[in-house]
Amino acid sequence: MDEVAALLRETACPACGLEDLEFVLRCDLGFGACLWTARCTTFGMLFEMVSADEALPEEFSGPRESGACPGCGGTAFEPRIVCRLATRQCVYLLECVNCRPTFR
Ligand SMILES: [Zn+2]
Ligand SMILES: [Zn+2]
Repeated sequence: MDEVAALLRETACPACGLEDLEFVLRCDLGFGACLWTARCTTFGMLFEMVSADEALPEEFSGPRESGACPGCGGTAFEPRIVCRLATRQCVYLLECVNCRPTFR
């Protein structure tokens, strides 16, 4: 999970817009299993880390079943973390390097 933690440090927090997210393993949330979360160090707000399978952004331009980008057909992808304030979730996903500028 080191790669995710490093990536998270470069991800802007959806709550305050600062790059103040830290990777925290929470075992006290009552879900049984421990949960990986992204925590805003400014407000203390927690974001659940979910897989792209669970919460794929609609406009996401990453690989689909075919392994190619649905937008441009390219196969070059880079990992990125997208956090949503509405769902309080952060998604770790692969994003097409060609279509990235149009995806926020
Ligand atoms: Zn924040
Ligand atoms: Zn693309």
